[in-house]
Amino acid sequence: MAAENPFLELAAPGIGRLAPYEPGRPGEEIERNYGLRDVVKLASNENPLGAPPAAAAAVTAAADLALYPDGACFTLRRRLARHLDVAPEQLILGNGSNEVLVMLAETVLTREHNAVMDQYSFVVYRLAAQACGAESRFAASFSAEDESPLGHDLDALRAAIDRHTRLVFVANPNNPTGSYVSPAALKKFIAEVPQHVLVVLDEAYLEYARESGEPDALGWLPDHRNLVVVRTFSKAYGLAGLRVGYAVCHADLAELVNRLRQPFNVNSLAQRAATAALDEQAWLARCVTANNAQRQLMAAGLAELGYPSLPSRGNFLLVDFGTASQSAAANEHLLRHGLIVRPVANYGLPRYLRITVGTAPQVAQLLEALKSFAATAA
Ligand SMILES: *Cc1c(COP(=O)(O)O)cnc(C)c1O
Repeated sequence: MAAENPFLELAAPGIGRLAPYEPGRPGEEIERNYGLRDVVKLASNENPLGAPPAAAAAVTAAADLALYPDGACFTLRRRLARHLDVAPEQLILGNGSNEVLVMLAETVLTREHNAVMDQYSFVVYRLAAQACGAESRFAASFSAEDESPLGHDLDALRAAIDRHTRLVFVANPNNPTGSYVSPAALKKFIAEVPQHVLVVLDEAYLEYARESGEPDALGWLPDHRNLVVVRTFSKAYGLAGLRVGYAVCHADLAELVNRLRQPFNVNSLAQRAATAALDEQAWLARCVTANNAQRQLMAAGLAELGYPSLPSRGNFLLVDFGTASQSAAANEHLLRHGLIVRPVANYGLPRYLRITVGTAPQVAQLLEALKSFAATAA
């Protein structure tokens, strides 16, 4: 253990106990440490099919790197508003949706307030609340045996709300579990949340999850001014490296949050690429179809090896290795075989690994590596 940091006494409330976000390990690091080449990263739910061609072209086209980006994101904002059928003033654009989540927390949370979230929801929610000195209140998930295993219990989330609550986070689908709440249940929940609480509906994996004909949460915004829908270009849209995400909400709330937004938070390459990506709907649909087919094959292959996974509506599976030590051994085995996956012990899920759905060859490589692991473990 390092000696206590002498700057701790200077730190703002909440910062002293903050444990930084642990990102998926970069391929280059594993290649260096394990003497490997062509490592496959299935740790951060990126799109294994890459970026949309039009977005890649927009980035390589001459860009004025010496100039500041358009702080208002004029072109992207207008294009995105048209795509979503909302007013441009309803959008908050961020350096990834991560930044949008942090800005929402900074806008409403203080030491007197709390944020409510599911016990197994995306770790950034608690980090954002803690950095504001606010309390995080965790609602118990459904059990692993429930029909929505480890899924959000909306009644428990609602019960955790009190008069000091300012935010309730719902991730749909959720990361790391992949669980999904039906639009009907969600709509009912939103209607029941008191007006002094913002419902932050994080739809980072929406493109993979929504079945045709299912209602879009954006349609509920006119009736629920405390609803904030957060989305990203990092996952299905394949632009994680550029950092661009957004929220859609009431224009007055967007105006408030935009007051604390840093003037040039979305860089110029990200703005161009995201704008171009919106024209790639056919490409996006092909990515979603490929993901959903590979997810099914991967789940079936894993189950055959004795590693069941939770039902997932995202581009990843939460895979059960039975015990924490088996999960750690599987992780190490996969690293040695050039596959980076995500341990989720920090989420309180030490038995599991979260594994992104790769391309067909990547899924085959994963199953092959786990087959040899199962043979050594047996
Ligand atoms: C990946 C992820 C995000 C953040 O993505 P950005 O790259 O910051 O846009 C937000 N929410 C959930 C649930 C995620 O899994």
